[in-house]
Amino acid sequence: MKQKEKAVLVGLVLPKKSKIEEMDSLDELAALAETADVEVVDRLIQERTSVNPATFIGAGKVKELENLLADHQAHVAIFDDELTPAQIRNLEKALKKKVIDRSALILDIFASRARTHEAQTQVELAQLEYFYPRLTRQWSHLSRQYGAGVATRGPGETQLETDRRLIRKRIGKLKSDLEKIEKQRAVRRKKRETFKRVALVGYTNVGKSSLMNVIAEADTFVENQLFATLDATIRSFETEEGKVLLVDTVGFVRKLPHHLVASFRSTLEESIEADLLLHVVDVSHPRYEDQIAAVEEVLRDLGVHDKPMITVFNKVDALEDRQLLRRLKRQYDPVVFTSAVKGLGVESLRHEVLEQLSLNRNEEIIRIPAHETRIISQIYELGQVLKREYDGNDAIIHIRSHAEKTGLIQNLIAPFKKAQ
Ligand code: GDP
Ligand code: MG
Repeated sequence: MKQKEKAVLVGLVLPKKSKIEEMDSLDELAALAETADVEVVDRLIQERTSVNPATFIGAGKVKELENLLADHQAHVAIFDDELTPAQIRNLEKALKKKVIDRSALILDIFASRARTHEAQTQVELAQLEYFYPRLTRQWSHLSRQYGAGVATRGPGETQLETDRRLIRKRIGKLKSDLEKIEKQRAVRRKKRETFKRVALVGYTNVGKSSLMNVIAEADTFVENQLFATLDATIRSFETEEGKVLLVDTVGFVRKLPHHLVASFRSTLEESIEADLLLHVVDVSHPRYEDQIAAVEEVLRDLGVHDKPMITVFNKVDALEDRQLLRRLKRQYDPVVFTSAVKGLGVESLRHEVLEQLSLNRNEEIIRIPAHETRIISQIYELGQVLKREYDGNDAIIHIRSHAEKTGLIQNLIAPFKKAQ
């Protein structure tokens, strides 16, 4: 068997960040490294008041890193944050070892996992845009010196050696290829338009694909690795309201390289197109709240944060703190608790999906005096409140409700309508 590359992870803690946060981020970086088939042999964290522009970490730490790499006979240093081309050059010169950052690692994983022509085109584009400013004589010299291995796949030796002009040309070609692919995708999408679409979104490794399998009884690729799949997988399941399409999307992680998000836009757009989002959360993860925030940020970037959404807290079987579920139930609405491996909550999830899909039909804006708290809470019971604002003494409530409940809501607010 081929010997795995060995790596030392490097994190920097600036005043705004806590050391615990960085340790957690390094755990994730370690999982990413493992996914890229790299063995993590050690970690190094430095606390500093600012970034060292030349080498990112301080000169003393560079020396320490050099010794660590030598002690472990490691091949590569992986930095948790994006490095500038100059920092990579300086570090490689000082350490005489390959230096990569989180973005390069993620790009590498995406490159080795892209299966469809579209995903391969998207990855190559993202890689070229990432490597372009880093393409210097020295970089290609070093990459040749260190040979194959993590983050040297992808654009390939020959392309790295061609001049920038050729790379720009290639970028242009990939972009126009992608446009063509996206047009074909739009045609396919149109054919599916008659069906309701539900998209699974969420942080990576939370159990989206596993849930897809138990809901749609399909056999999607499930693996305990980050980014097991890149391309959106679509399955269907039958319901009394007809066929529903379920879309499994790529997981989100913190510090996802900007180029990658841009190139994968069309894949992510599969979730934009959905009638309903299932935001799957690994409730057994100690930092699940940060993961929720990271996902919400990507959803905001894509402009889909106000789509109807069910929060699905998965992996309840692995959760010890049962009190937490009670708190979450109050905090999130609509919410479902599941265990994809134990098959728990699957029926409730199916039910909630149907409920939400038909809830989509009625949305209205109602006005009611803000002090009518009892009636307002009854209204809350009858539908899903999308937004609540105030206008003088009135509460303005945007509510989405099931057709049969709309009449009840109207009855509740009727007395106040006359006064207006
Ligand atoms: P995805 O990246 O969100 O698609 O996650 P996957 O469906 O690939 O699952 C990631 C890992 O979590 C796999 O090892 C699953 O077996 C595991 N997993 C998924 N759902 C559950 C669950 O409900 N409970 C537990 N304990 N593990 C789960
Ligand atoms: Mg998956």
